[in-house]
Amino acid sequence: MKHKKIHIISWLTVNFGRLLLALVFLLSGFVKAVDPLGMSYKINDYLRSAGIFLSYDSFYTLAFAVGLGVFEFLLGVSLLLGIRRRLTITCTFLFVLVMTILTAYIYIYNPVDDCGCFGEAILLSHKETFIKNIILLLIVTYVAYKNQRIDRFITERNQWILSNYSFVYIFCLSLYSAHYLPILDFTDYSENTNIRAAVNSEEENSLKGFYLASYDGEEDETFRILSDTSYTFLLIVPEVETSDDGCNDRINDLYDFCVENHINFYGVISYSCESLADWQDRTGAAYPFLRGDEKQLRAMVRSNPGLVLLKNGILQEKWSNNNLPELESETKVIEHKKNLPLMQLLFWFVVPLLVIILLDNIWKGRKFIKLFFVNYFNKTNMRKKIVAGNWKMNLNLQDGVKLAQNLNEVLKNNKPNCDVVICTPFIHLASVYNEIDANVIGLGAENCADKASGAYTGEVSAEMVKSTGAQYVILGHSERRSYYHETAEILKEKTKLALANGLKVIFCIGEVLEERESGKQNEVVKAQLEGSLFDLTQEEFANIILAYEPVWAIGTGKTATAEQAEDMHAFIRKTIENHFGAEAANNVSILYGGSCKPSNAKEIFSKENVDGGLIGGAALNVEDFKGIIDAWN
Ligand code: PEP
Repeated sequence: MKHKKIHIISWLTVNFGRLLLALVFLLSGFVKAVDPLGMSYKINDYLRSAGIFLSYDSFYTLAFAVGLGVFEFLLGVSLLLGIRRRLTITCTFLFVLVMTILTAYIYIYNPVDDCGCFGEAILLSHKETFIKNIILLLIVTYVAYKNQRIDRFITERNQWILSNYSFVYIFCLSLYSAHYLPILDFTDYSENTNIRAAVNSEEENSLKGFYLASYDGEEDETFRILSDTSYTFLLIVPEVETSDDGCNDRINDLYDFCVENHINFYGVISYSCESLADWQDRTGAAYPFLRGDEKQLRAMVRSNPGLVLLKNGILQEKWSNNNLPELESETKVIEHKKNLPLMQLLFWFVVPLLVIILLDNIWKGRKFIKLFFVNYFNKTNMRKKIVAGNWKMNLNLQDGVKLAQNLNEVLKNNKPNCDVVICTPFIHLASVYNEIDANVIGLGAENCADKASGAYTGEVSAEMVKSTGAQYVILGHSERRSYYHETAEILKEKTKLALANGLKVIFCIGEVLEERESGKQNEVVKAQLEGSLFDLTQEEFANIILAYEPVWAIGTGKTATAEQAEDMHAFIRKTIENHFGAEAANNVSILYGGSCKPSNAKEIFSKENVDGGLIGGAALNVEDFKGIIDAWN
């Protein structure tokens, strides 16, 4: 009970932490992806503070900004859905670590105005950013330590669909925003902003410094422009040298239209621009020019050049140079196109995502709700997790007793999160039984006779095993099947006798290498189950523990991959369900055996249908065996 409680608390904390990280990364990735130019300017600020001067329109910083937004968003999706858990959490850890170091540096030396963690959407002080990163670092360290407890909402087989879809979605969104304008505008100059009111406001605000000067810089034109009650177009050119002049004809047509219709039209360049001759030569610009602060111009519209429409000091609309308006009459000026609203953007991400998850679950033959609740509780609450050792013909009595004593000591001081069983040679049973705490370690034999009693020299019956205090017996081990020619029929008899004497049976099944290589493993395992266990009643079957042991992996150092184990375990469970029903299938523990070690146990045990391990070689050493038991922590 206590273990289950700890188990659930640890599951809750890991998954809560992981969801929190997911939300942070989804948000920070999304806001960067929808405003890649804004992020690129911030990266440029960082580089400048380090003495590297690139143009604010540099392709490299823009590409990096797009990559960063996409990367963070994908990390968020992977954390949210439990995709490639180990890789995801490692990348998250490294990312947060680097960011924490960077923000510590920013906090101490103050090289940039804003760190840019959440683009323009949420502005944090350097101190707040640093504290935020320290908290994230603590959370990600904890989640990384317990990463196997992260639940997945999509099967491993289909997770690539979600990763690829998320990549395409966020990458396209980012390219679209870079080519046109940010799909969502988090800057201070979003549409409908009343710049005049902000400039004149008594209260402190970020637009207070808004300023437009005449071309020679002598006169303040701010008030005149912001007070104009008719339309005013501002063609914003933050950096003349790097601006895109591919749209001159459209701009000039627009200017001509404005002259004809008495609409104001100005170009706006930065104070630092020394000569307009280059721009005028390249574009044939005939319109008058104003000057403004370069930072302010870049914030007004994420395009170089970009177009802004003002009326009454209110920012009506803005356009990228790749999407300039075609004006045929003045009325057209006021027909605003609207950006895609947030809900629509989310819809196009969330709905396909949910559809894929739903299909994935239908594909798995489960109900959606079961994935979240029933399956979890079936696994943690009802199905036993077991690590069982099989000592085989190793260790004399004294060494065996010593090993049992040591293991008992270690586990008593450090309670395992699973049932632990040791299966020993017959002669060890009674002595070992006296050395172990039955509440901590279960005891089992490695075999028993197929006869109840009588003149069978050298044999040991199930009843004799039980009389030593043992509660388990291993039957059907591949070594007994192959060296002692134990057939399905013999194993059926042994199983019946063991169960009749109150022993739980750890029943081994598994294919040899040739069978796996010819793809016959499912067929072989099914035949082994049918041949020895399918005559049992449901009540009898409740005392069976299955152990899938691919013969080619036993004692060879070769392990089945976690995916191979999971595929076979799922197949075994399905086979049991078809014969004994869903409840029996849900309740039966299926252990994996075959070169299981502390280094691979965690990954194998993390699989949905793997409920523990049957351990050979590694069970002869307390440290290794404990390492495997700890995989359940
Ligand atoms: C076994 O014999 O049951 C077994 C799994 O052995 P090993 O762990 O040594 O491969």
